Amino acid sequence: MLNPDFPFSYDHYLANDAGLGSVPESLYGTEVAVIGAGLSGLVTAYELMKLGLKPVVYEADQIGGRLRTASFAAAPQITCDLGGMRFPVSSKALYHYIELLGLDTYDFPNPLAEPTDSTVIELKGQKIYVEDPADLPVFYQEVADAWKQALREDAHFEQMQQAIRDRDTHTIKALWDSMLEEFDEESFYGFIANSKAFKQAGFEHREAFGQVGFGSGGWDTDFPNSILEILRVVYTDADDYHRGITGGAAKLPEALWNHAPEKMAHWPAGTSLSTLHVGAPRGAVAKVYRTSNPGFNGANTIEVTERFGRTQEFGAVVSTVQSWLLSTGIDTDEDLFAPELWTAIERSHYMQSSKTFVMVDRPFWKDRDPVTGQHLMSMTLTDRLSRATYLLDNGEDQPAVILLSYTWNDDALKWLSLSAERRMELMLHSLEKIYPGVDIRSHIVGQPITVSWESDPNFMGAFKANLPGHYRYQQRLYTHFDQQAMAAEHRGIFLAGDDVSWTAGWAEGAVTTGLNALWGVVQHLGGADAQANPGPGAFLAEIGPKAL
Ligand code: FAD
Repeated sequence: MLNPDFPFSYDHYLANDAGLGSVPESLYGTEVAVIGAGLSGLVTAYELMKLGLKPVVYEADQIGGRLRTASFAAAPQITCDLGGMRFPVSSKALYHYIELLGLDTYDFPNPLAEPTDSTVIELKGQKIYVEDPADLPVFYQEVADAWKQALREDAHFEQMQQAIRDRDTHTIKALWDSMLEEFDEESFYGFIANSKAFKQAGFEHREAFGQVGFGSGGWDTDFPNSILEILRVVYTDADDYHRGITGGAAKLPEALWNHAPEKMAHWPAGTSLSTLHVGAPRGAVAKVYRTSNPGFNGANTIEVTERFGRTQEFGAVVSTVQSWLLSTGIDTDEDLFAPELWTAIERSHYMQSSKTFVMVDRPFWKDRDPVTGQHLMSMTLTDRLSRATYLLDNGEDQPAVILLSYTWNDDALKWLSLSAERRMELMLHSLEKIYPGVDIRSHIVGQPITVSWESDPNFMGAFKANLPGHYRYQQRLYTHFDQQAMAAEHRGIFLAGDDVSWTAGWAEGAVTTGLNALWGVVQHLGGADAQANPGPGAFLAEIGPKAL
C-alpha cells in the first residue's frame, strides 16, 4: 500500500539486509515501554528487541488486540475472526511478517470474487443470483461503470494506480497534493453525488452503489467519511485481492510474540518477546506522566503506572492504544502533547462494527437446488438489516461458519443493545426471506458468537475514519514520530497503531506506524539508521504528508 500521503516503501525498508538501524552498545538492554499488544505494539516491540533494546509490553486484555480470533466452544478448532479477517495482498509490510513467521493464507471469499462459488444480491425484494460476475444484470454493470468513470474523471485514478505500481513517488505526490485541499472538504457521498458519472446515472444507481459497493461489499455507511479515506483504499487496491490467515488472524500477533529472530543484537539465541516477559505482558496502563528526572534527547523520563499500581520510569514510551483512550482510558499528563496534537486526538472519528457468527454442521450451502440448479445459499448482499453474509468453508469434513451479518456505523449501532441470541434471530429472519426454502436453523450447532467493538472499554470502535476537514489532524498525528523540531517537554512518547495511520482499518497501517515509532525511538535514544537503509523519518521532508 504505497500510500499517496507518504509513499515510503516500507516493504523495501523491511527487506533490506542492512536492517532497521542500531543503538549504541551502552544502551543494550534499555527498557522501552510499549502500550498495547495489538499488531502495532508487537511489531514495534519485536523490532526494538532485534536492535538489542528491551521492550516492556503492557496489555489490558488479550494479546492481538483487533486481530482477535474466537473459537466455538463445541469445536474449538473452528474459529472466527472478530476484527481484521481479510488482508489485501497490497499490504506488503504486513505480508513481510506473515511470510517471515511462516503463516499460511487462503483466498478470502468476498462477494463476486474468484474463490466465491456464488453471490446473491437482494435489493428491494429483488433477488439476483450469479456465479460469474459477468452475468450481473446490465443495471449493476452500469453502477460499476459509473464508479470507475467518477474515479477516472475526478480523481486521476489510472495515473495514480500506474504511479503506485511504478513506485513513482514524485508523480504520486504531485497528483495527490493537487487534489488534497479540495477533497479534504468533500464527503464520500458528496464525491459520488457531484460526479458527472453518477449525476447522469441517477439516484437509483447511487443507491445501489451504496448497498452493494465495490470489492468487499456495500459502502453507504462510509458515505459521511472524507473521500480522501476512500481514495486511499481504491488507489492501493486495499479493497481487492484479499487473503485470510489460516487458523485465524490472531495467529499473526501470537507468532510475533513467540518468535525468536535469527539475527538480533545483544540478546542470546532463542530470545522472544514471550521469554523477555516471562510468558505474559504487563497489565493495563492507568497513568502516564512526565517525571523531573533527565532522560534522553533533552527530555525528562516518563512514568507508566499499571492499573494495579506498579510504576516504572522509561526514557521512551510508545502508545498504540486507540488514541482517544489517551483521554478516556488512561490518565495522561496533558503536557506530554502540544495542544494541537490533543485537538487532533480529540477529533478522532471512529467507525463502529458488528459481526455475528454461527457454526453449522457442514458447508450445506454448496448443495444445489434440484429445481434451479443454484447453490442453496450464497455470499449475500442485501438492503435488509443483515446487510452482508459470508460463508466460510473449512472443508467437507469439518463444521463450517456463517458470518450472518457484518455491519458498519449506523447499521452496527442498531445491534448494540441486542443479545447474541436476538441478533441471530433477526439475521436468520432476513436470510429466511431471501432463501425461503432453506432450513438454515437445522444446520446450526452451539451458540452464536457476536462482537460490537464499540462496547469494549479497551477500544473506541472498529477503527478511525476521518470526516471531511480532518486531514490536518491526521497529518499532525501521523508525523508526530519525527520529534527533532519538537519542544523537549513533548519528546519521548510516540504514537503508533492504525488510529494514526493513513489507512486506518487496514492492518498494514498498524505495521507501518509501528515502524515509524521504532524509527522515532531509535533517534530519541541516540541511535541511527543503517547507512544503506534510511528509515521513514529520513524521507518525511521530501515525500511526507503535505501540511495544509
Ligand atoms: P489494537 O489492535 O487496537 O491494539 C491496541 C491494544 O491496546 C489492544 O490490544 C488493547 O487491548 C490495548 N489497550 C487498550 N487500552 C490499554 C491500556 N490502558 N493499557 C494497555 N493496553 C491497552 N484490517 C485488515 O487489514 N483487514 C481487515 O479485513 C480488517 N477488518 C477489520 C474489521 C474490524 C471489525 C476491525 C475492528 C478491524 C479490522 N481491520 C482490518 C483493522 C486491523 O484489525 C487493525 O488495523 C489492527 O488490528 C490494529 O492494530 P493496532 O495494534 O493498531 O491496535
